[in-house]
Amino acid sequence: GGCTDQREVSLQTSVSEQTAKHPCYSQEAHTRYARMHLPVAPHCNISCNYCNRKFNCVNESRPGVTSEVLTPADARRKFAMVKEKVEQLSVVGIAGPGDALANWPETRESIERIKAAAPDIVFCLSTNGLMLPDFAQEIVDLGIHHVTVTVNCLDTEIGARIYKFVHYRGQKLTGVEAAATLLKNQLEGIGFLVKHGVLVKINIVMMKGINDRHIPEVVQKMKELGVFVTNIMPLIPAPGSVFEHMPQTSMKEVSDMRSACEQYLPQMRHCRQCRADAIGLLGQDRSHEFRLAPPAYEQ
Ligand code: SF4
Ligand code: SF4
Repeated sequence: GGCTDQREVSLQTSVSEQTAKHPCYSQEAHTRYARMHLPVAPHCNISCNYCNRKFNCVNESRPGVTSEVLTPADARRKFAMVKEKVEQLSVVGIAGPGDALANWPETRESIERIKAAAPDIVFCLSTNGLMLPDFAQEIVDLGIHHVTVTVNCLDTEIGARIYKFVHYRGQKLTGVEAAATLLKNQLEGIGFLVKHGVLVKINIVMMKGINDRHIPEVVQKMKELGVFVTNIMPLIPAPGSVFEHMPQTSMKEVSDMRSACEQYLPQMRHCRQCRADAIGLLGQDRSHEFRLAPPAYEQ
């Protein structure tokens, strides 16, 4: 009825107003608006072979750089500190150092506290997607319009080579079973978010000899699901990870893959793989100015 249409129109307007202020989703915004990542999510519920758990999640972060972990109360304090000094601050994101949804109570509480203090702030979060079917409705209810999910493949055999295990509902799954559970939840969760007006960005880690040839298929499937943009990223072998001796994917290879996939979906080319506690304009990191606690891990 008319009522629903009205709501949909205003939802769409608010999403596009928010996107115009989001440096990662809008080319124009990325030189004008600043973001801060709040490292309130230390745990993860899966194990990617490219991850070294001492470091930040590759969902949004360059492996090998480290950050402090904050409680929701500290996150709120830090937000106030940063907001005062960084005028262009428009976006607060939860991007690790583990998975935003594996720490959902802390992620949610941090967002609620900041939202109460600053209703204009745009929130985003990034996740491996395992818990999306459980929390996507709450994400929508919280008014989060920008979510990033890392989807590396659609094929469980390929997934079995990428994921060492998945912790799900009290069980530790491995092999194709782990991959199947993760993939199913990712697809279901992404579909739900898109249907509810959330702009979904997909990160894909390009791993030579593992998923590289399969990436165009992944991008086509994401298009079908209504995803907004894909962000193909290079594998940067992290010391101590299972893939530590894998070849690094060059930016040329990534850039060629983006060009090949552009026919399906817009390709993000300005993602900087920021740290889980990054602060400032994209390409700028002022996190060292705003530390509350010593970093959890030192390189
Ligand atoms: Fe590491 Fe993967 Fe978990 Fe991110 S999702 S913290 S890369 S295991
Ligand atoms: Fe934006 Fe990429 Fe940095 Fe996230 S990691 S804040 S998407 S530039």
